[in-house]
Amino acid sequence: MLKPLKVAQSPVNKFREYLASRAKPQRYTESQRRLVEFIFSAHDHFDADQLCQDLDKAGITISRATVYRTLAKLVDAGMLRQIHLGTRVVYEHEYGYPEHAHLHCSQCGKMIEFQRPELENIVQEICQQHRFAMNSFNLLIHGTCFECNAKRTTQRRLDLV
Ligand SMILES: [Zn+2]
Ligand SMILES: [Zn+2]
Repeated sequence: MLKPLKVAQSPVNKFREYLASRAKPQRYTESQRRLVEFIFSAHDHFDADQLCQDLDKAGITISRATVYRTLAKLVDAGMLRQIHLGTRVVYEHEYGYPEHAHLHCSQCGKMIEFQRPELENIVQEICQQHRFAMNSFNLLIHGTCFECNAKRTTQRRLDLV
């Protein structure tokens, strides 16, 4: 996990600003406010189902429809980022969290975060060569984490005995 950035506004207030700035300003419901607070209480990579389960566990009752609608709005507001893992979509904080790339373990699903600013320089150079205007770039490396690899090696050794 990386160090969160200092932000001028709390996520709850940032989202309020977003709703108010819409062409047709939207009401900020109590459920939405609690949801934003909950999502931004800890940095994680989560999907909508997991979020619903975590809310249940925390004893917070918010309808699935509200969860899905709010997630879409948080992405639109630039506060959450979507990461596509095959058919699964996971979310993580964009607001108040530094740029980073991911290693994704296909065995246990773990996401390892890392920062290498020189990667951005390489990507920008490639874009320049192709006269390509970059909006954003996300690096996602798929493979197997150290723990899962160690387990596999042990298993293989046991199979040989
Ligand atoms: Zn793993
Ligand atoms: Zn991340």
